[in-house]
Amino acid sequence: MAQLDHTHDPKLGSWVASANGHPDFPIQNLPLGIFSSGGGAPRGGVAIGDQILDLSAALAAGLFTGEAARAAEAACGSVLNPFLALGAGSRQALRARLSALLQAGRPDQGRVELCLRPASDCTLHLPAHIGDYTDFYVGIHHATNVGKQFRPDNPLLPNYKYVPIGYHGRASSIRPSGVPVRRPLGQTKPPDASEPGFGPSQRLDYELELGVWIGLGNELGTPIDIGKASDHVGGFCLLNDWSARDIQAWEYQPLGPFLSKNFASTISAWIVTPEALAPFRIAQPGRPGGDPAPLPYLTNEADQREGALDLELEVLLLTPGMRAKRLPPHRLALSNARHMYWTVAQMVTHHTSNGCNLQPGDLLGTGTISGPDQTSCGSILEATLGGKSPINLASGEERRFLQDGDEVILRARGCRDGFAPVGFGECRAMILPAA
Ligand code: CA
Repeated sequence: MAQLDHTHDPKLGSWVASANGHPDFPIQNLPLGIFSSGGGAPRGGVAIGDQILDLSAALAAGLFTGEAARAAEAACGSVLNPFLALGAGSRQALRARLSALLQAGRPDQGRVELCLRPASDCTLHLPAHIGDYTDFYVGIHHATNVGKQFRPDNPLLPNYKYVPIGYHGRASSIRPSGVPVRRPLGQTKPPDASEPGFGPSQRLDYELELGVWIGLGNELGTPIDIGKASDHVGGFCLLNDWSARDIQAWEYQPLGPFLSKNFASTISAWIVTPEALAPFRIAQPGRPGGDPAPLPYLTNEADQREGALDLELEVLLLTPGMRAKRLPPHRLALSNARHMYWTVAQMVTHHTSNGCNLQPGDLLGTGTISGPDQTSCGSILEATLGGKSPINLASGEERRFLQDGDEVILRARGCRDGFAPVGFGECRAMILPAA
C-alpha cells in the first residue's frame, strides 16, 4: 500500500503558481497522461496546475537520473503501458523527483520551465493502450436500487455478498474526456409491445464509476494474492460507463450487458497514482450485521484496514437549454468511493483467482457507485426511479433520461484534514444524435 511521505506535505508549494490551491492538480497530485501540442506526436506528461510537464523534454534536459530517469523514459512514448509495467518503486522515484523539481525555491526552475506546456494548448489522449476492460458491480447501493426496480422483494441476488460480480467489457470504444458520444441504435422491446423494434435508444444513461489502471501484470495461471493485489494497481481515473437501458433490459438475460454498454465508455485522461491517493485511504466500511465475511482468499487484514478510498464523486449535467441561458451545470449526484462493497484489491484478486492474467494498461471499472439516498445516485435510472420521477432543471427543462446535446461531467476529489485536496480532472462528454 502506498505510504505517506514528504511529497504529501500540505505546506509544499510549487513555483508553478497555478498549482497552488488548484482544485485538481496541486504539487501533491502529479498525475500522468498522454498529450499532444502544436501538431507534435502524443507523448507522456504530468499535470501541474494549468500546465503540463513534457517528460520527453525534461528527460532530454537531463532533469532525471537513476530510477526516476528509467520511469520517465518509460513514460515518454505515445502510451503509458511501459511505465505502468514498471510497478511501484519506479513510480515512486519519479514522483519524488517531480515533487523536488516543481517545488518552490528549487534551483532547477529555469530548466524545468522550458519543459512546461499550457494545458489549454494541448490535446489529451487515452493514457494507455487498453488491452482488456472489465466492469465490476461493487456499488452496493446501485446494485440494490437497480435490483429493486426488477425484484422489489429480493433486490440483491444471493451471490452478491460472496462474489465481486463483474463482466468483460469492450476496450475498443473507450475514449478520453471531451470526445462526444453518439446515441446508439439498438433492438428494444417496450413491455407493452408484442415484438421488438430497432432504432435510437430512448433511455440513455450515464454510470458514475471509478476506473482502476492495472500496473504490474500477472502470468496466466498465477493468481494474485490478496496481500499483493495493491502492488498491481498502477492508478485511478473516472469512468462513465454509458448505458442504453432499453437495449439492456431486452438483451441482458441470460448473459448480461452487450450492445447496451459497448458503444462507448468515457474516462478522465489523467492517471492519478496510488501514491497521490495515499492520504485518502480509509478502512473498508464494516458489512451490515448478518452479511457473510468474505471468503479467505479475499480477506486481508491490511486491505480491510486501509484498502478503501474516501473520494467525493460528483455527477453534473449541462443541457442545451442550460447552455442557452448560461446556467452552470446542475449537480445530479454527490457520492463517495467509500460506498464500494468490495475493495479494489478484492476486485484484482478475484479477477485473477482462476488464473486469468491481467496486463499493464488493463482497465477495471468498479461499477456504478451510488450513495445511500436520492441525492447520491450514480445513474439517472436510479435518480428518476426508472424514468418515472423526472429531474427538474433551472432552465425549465426536465429529464427522465439523457437527451441529445446533454453533457455529463464526472468529477472526483480527495479531501482530508491536514492534506492538500487532489482531483482527477474532468470526465466529460456530450451526447450526439443517433446516426
Ligand atoms: Ca457499469
